[in-house]
Amino acid sequence: MDPRRSIPRTDELLMLVDATSNLSTATLKALAHDVQAAARRGEISPEDVRDVFVARASQGATTLTPVINATGVVVHTNVGRAPLSTGAVEAMSRAAAYVDVEMDLDAGVRSRERGKQATEALLATCPAAEDALVVNNGASALLLAAATFAEGGDLVISRGELIEIGAGFRLPELIESARVRLVEVGATNRTHPADYERAHEAKAILKVHPSNYRVEGFTASVSVAQLREIANANGQTLIVDTGSGLLAPDPLLPDEPDATTALKQGADVVLFSGDKLLGGPQAGVVLGTREAIAKMRKHPLARAVRIDKLRLAALEATMRLAYNPTHAYLHADPAVLKQRTEALAAKVGGTVVAHDGRVGGGGAPGHPLPGYAVELDEELAHALRRHDPAILGRVHGGRLLIDLRCVPEDQDALVAAAIVEAVDEAAGEVRA
Ligand SMILES: *Cc1c(COP(=O)(O)O)cnc(C)c1O
Repeated sequence: MDPRRSIPRTDELLMLVDATSNLSTATLKALAHDVQAAARRGEISPEDVRDVFVARASQGATTLTPVINATGVVVHTNVGRAPLSTGAVEAMSRAAAYVDVEMDLDAGVRSRERGKQATEALLATCPAAEDALVVNNGASALLLAAATFAEGGDLVISRGELIEIGAGFRLPELIESARVRLVEVGATNRTHPADYERAHEAKAILKVHPSNYRVEGFTASVSVAQLREIANANGQTLIVDTGSGLLAPDPLLPDEPDATTALKQGADVVLFSGDKLLGGPQAGVVLGTREAIAKMRKHPLARAVRIDKLRLAALEATMRLAYNPTHAYLHADPAVLKQRTEALAAKVGGTVVAHDGRVGGGGAPGHPLPGYAVELDEELAHALRRHDPAILGRVHGGRLLIDLRCVPEDQDALVAAAIVEAVDEAAGEVRA
């Protein structure tokens, strides 16, 4: 008899978890079909189908795997950029039920200021801004700004700032998808005030921080303060996209632009992502003058790029809380990192090497964050990625580097145990 004929039927499988699983029937059916198909392909034996199905049905409703980021890259796009603090997670969880996101509880009427709480928290942290608007992400903030201030007209930008931000997304194409014509001025490496002055018919000037690459050598660009003068002379709006979201200068990242400085130098609006160096949820934050923000709020696109209440709550909490994981990892004390790395190496039998972390996620390109790593056999990388939680190190030059910069200190022991387990497994495979 064909052993595949002994694969348990769907209704039999569903009955096994009837009382224990909180997954929907449709999800359980799909799961059952998955496991049955694996058995038909010979990947698992028909006798194991019940156990595999029950195990998978008990895994819960989300299948995203938590990752311990041992790469040393603080804002790592592939693992979801900024990790949220416990307080921000709690805020999201509270906001998951009914909340007063668009309600004035005092007056008992609808409040027009959706997200007022997050806006106020941003303004308290960045007093240089008169008002703030939070939208879905950095790209939508840019799209909304371009549409609000240059719709049906020209937007002038330096050629050196026409960047691709990753996964094939190009800022120029994004902007042109609004009814805006881009006027490129200057050259890749040098742009001068006169280049912008010639584009006096443009409705707005856009300055973008080329956050994921650097032009070195013979370069020139025009400062926000200089652009303000040109914009004043031509009656233009000045939009600044800083990309990574520093609110104030950070001495650790001297080349990274910040919102406070750009606003003080005369930007009408500054926009950036919430989940890069700000260390919050995915969001597009716009800070600027009362007038400019009011205009953006009124544009029809504002509704299309609206942010949800969960992330508004997380953003407000991120702004109000003292502890921010992204900031802590960025500013990790090298002496402490060295100690932790040595302790890890002693437990797992690897070598301690100097290792530079990076900001990542399109921020401070090429800027090293000096630290350490435990150097291990590259072969271990796969087993560690398959661990739960997954442990993601950096594979480089045929070696696996485990950098503890972005690992919460209370998870050092877990990382050590996982590596020891992976080493033992690999040794077992060699013996076998
Ligand atoms: C990251 C980035 C964006 C896009 O922001 P998202 O939040 O990813 O949509 C836009 N401009 C610059 C300069 C960036 O660095």
